[in-house]
Amino acid sequence: MPNATPTLLGVPYDAASSFQRGAALAPIAIRAALACESSNTWTEDGLDITAPGILADAGDLGVDNATPAAAHRAIEAGVAAVIDQGTRPLILGGDHSITYPALRALAKRHPGVTILHLDAHGDLYDNYGGDRLSHACPFARIMEERLASRLIQIGIRTLSAHQRDQMARFGVETHEMRHWAGPPAIHVEGPLYLSLDIDVLDPAFVPGISHPEPGGLSVREVVTMLQRLEGRIVGADLVEFNPSNDPSPRTGLVCAKLVKEIVAAMHRNG
Ligand code: MN
Ligand code: MN
Repeated sequence: MPNATPTLLGVPYDAASSFQRGAALAPIAIRAALACESSNTWTEDGLDITAPGILADAGDLGVDNATPAAAHRAIEAGVAAVIDQGTRPLILGGDHSITYPALRALAKRHPGVTILHLDAHGDLYDNYGGDRLSHACPFARIMEERLASRLIQIGIRTLSAHQRDQMARFGVETHEMRHWAGPPAIHVEGPLYLSLDIDVLDPAFVPGISHPEPGGLSVREVVTMLQRLEGRIVGADLVEFNPSNDPSPRTGLVCAKLVKEIVAAMHRNG
């Protein structure tokens, strides 16, 4: 459906985080940053996100204290509802575990979707400390269930031997940070899902994260990638912002900036 309105869906869930909680506070903090008068409501290419039809908001799912099974059911149903009303989900996490149930809903409606995954981490562990639904595992589950036709990863800089095995097993197209020479040219046929873990950025830009991994991308590099993105984006998520580690609201403002540029990319490519 052309120009199906991008629609925010907050998923305040961080129980699958292996190290620190706090990402559940992100949806409210990102909305506050979007409304903050320190900036305005315009994307760099001239879209006012408060204009009619540009960005809607479906509110938050009530998953804060849910069990993993209940949270996954609620996330799959919540994402399905956004798509089934003719809009496109722009999910505000939450930890990265939420991408798996989101893709279960999305893949049924957009078969053959390609995932573009920006992250410091591969998130390909078979299990993490015994937890198969950990935020370190979503892309192993997604590829096992064949919920995506391609998985393209950018910014990765923490691969263990096990995760390299998983990469090969699933045919993941990984652009490791150690080979960075500017934004890679990405050509995608068919629908595209964007999964943006903000720890792909260098921790210098985003103190408010749970797993700071030095040697990452700048805000400008990620914004430029979003502005050059080809392909129709049928859904997106922005995950792993941890407001508990963000004493200045800087990370929230980075997230708000990225939300605006994701909205611009969704509209640019229909
Ligand atoms: Mn991640
Ligand atoms: Mn990460």
